[in-house]
Formats: sequence, structure tokens, C-alpha cells
Amino acid sequence: MFTSWPTAITQEIRFSSLTSPVPRLLVLREDLLDPFVGGNKWRKLQLNLAAFADQHKKVMLSFGGAWSNHLTALAAVCKRAGIPAVGVIRGDEELNNPSLSFMKRSGLKILQVSRSDYRLRSEPDFLAMITRRAAEEFFDPSITAADFYVIPEGGSNEAGVKGCEAISTAIGVDYDLIVAACGTGATLAGIARGLPAGKKAVGIPVLKGQGFLGENIERWGAPAGSFQLIHGYDHGGYAKSSSALLEFCSSFQRESHIPVEPVYTGKLFFALRDLFSKGAFDPASTVVALHSGGIFNYDLEA
Ligand SMILES: *Cc1c(COP(=O)(O)O)cnc(C)c1O
Repeated sequence: MFTSWPTAITQEIRFSSLTSPVPRLLVLREDLLDPFVGGNKWRKLQLNLAAFADQHKKVMLSFGGAWSNHLTALAAVCKRAGIPAVGVIRGDEELNNPSLSFMKRSGLKILQVSRSDYRLRSEPDFLAMITRRAAEEFFDPSITAADFYVIPEGGSNEAGVKGCEAISTAIGVDYDLIVAACGTGATLAGIARGLPAGKKAVGIPVLKGQGFLGENIERWGAPAGSFQLIHGYDHGGYAKSSSALLEFCSSFQRESHIPVEPVYTGKLFFALRDLFSKGAFDPASTVVALHSGGIFNYDLEA
């Protein structure tokens, strides 16, 4: 279950409003990998699940916001694999949304912590406290801190990056560039590490002004020069949007029949259309756009 990689599906699309010569555009439909956890969060979890089993851990624990795609994916895969899992969610206000309801229905145990405590999430003392609290509230008192497999926010650890290397190697067609939306940049780092010779990765940051993003991506082992970040398409910051972006998302979906959301993939395709119109890429090249998922049907059961 954790070792086989699915075959890549690419779909060629065209931005109808562009008339001058533009690159060939193939969409890598990783959103179709799985009906619940499709996309990069699925890639990031595969090797973490394998490590969980190898290390004989008993409980998965990870972090995120109340809308976290990562925690949604974690809840779904842990339910299917029969793994007890805890989501540590930031914010002490009353939280209720379809994503959180899905997580709870899938059996994810939720621990809410204040935003100030959440900032301590990688400190050993905080981890000791939060695992003790989880063990007491949800599990057998014999469960100790050592029984927890802890995944950082967004699934962005070495196993997560490694899982994303398969994105570049799975593509069965020839291409020049892979372009992807970037949050933490772990996905782009994996893509850059997995690139066949002569190809490049391009990231579109969805957060505002992340000067450190390129350094993080290099720290995750992306060779310098293997990737490039193109800023200016965050539309005001993470989960912020603009009317131009929302309009783009609905017309893009109408024309391509590919679902997108405004947090990640909407910003990616918006950026591509704009970059194509400005002639930013060689029109003779083939560009692969990663559809990294983020579309959930919360009414279904994992
Ligand atoms: C999390 C996420 C990303 C960003 O991934 P990073 O590895 O954090 O850069 C992109 N697209 C979607 C749909 C996501 O859920």
C-alpha cells in the first residue's frame, strides 16, 4: 500500500484568451490520486506512514489550522489504515467548519491550543506536554511520548519531501519545466530533487513576502539552480484572494473542467496565464503544471 506509485495522468490545456505562441501546457492531475487526499499531501504522507510502521509507533500526531489540507489528508489515511491520530489545531476560539467536521468524523482526535502555544510546536518541552495531554485525554495511560510519530505542519519533513520526488519521476512525457504552488516549499524541494537532468522546477509562492522560502527549499536538499521562485502572485497573502483571482478560478473551471481553489492551484494557474501572456517562458517549451489537490468532497466518507 505504501510503496507503489500510481501512474501519472497529464491533461493538455490551453488558455483560450491568449493568441500569441505560448508553451505547451500539461496539467499533472495529482488531484486525482485519491478522492479524499489527492495531491501533494498524499505524496507527503506515504513515506511517513511507512516510517510509522517501521518504527513501531502507536499514534500519529500532527499540526495545522482548522482548514488544514494536511490534517484532512492525515485523518482520511489514518482512518483507512486503522492508525490512531491526533491533530493539534491552533486557535482557542470555537472552531467549526466542514473540514474540521470531516476530520472528526474520520476519527482524528482534536487538541486545540492557543496561537501563542502553537508557535512552540517544535520545542521538546511543548511536544512532551502535548503528547502527555493526548495520551491522557484519548488513549491508554500506558502510551508514552515515544509512542507518538510526530509530523510537522503541512507534512513538511524529510519523508514528506522524499515522497514528493516521485512527482517529477512519475511523469511519462517529455517536458522542460514543472511549475507548482508553494506554501512551505517542501513539495517544490521534492520535485527539484527528483528532476531528471536538464529540467527545472518553478514555484509560485502563495504566502506574502517569503524571503526565506528559497533558503528553506535548499535546506531540504533542492540543488541550487534546479528551481526558481516567481513572486507577485500571492493576491495579498495566504488564503487571501482578489476579485480577479476568484473570477479567474470560475472561468478556468468552466473552460478546462479542472476544479481549482483560490488558496493554491487557483493562484498557480492565474500566474501561469499571466506569465504566458508576458512571454516569460520559451514558447517552444513544454510546461507541466502540478495540480497539487486541495479539492475535498467533505460529504463523502473516507
Ligand atoms: C499544502 C498544499 C500546497 C503547498 O505545499 P508545500 O509543500 O507546503 O509548498 C500546494 N497545493 C495544495 C493543494 C496544498 O494543499
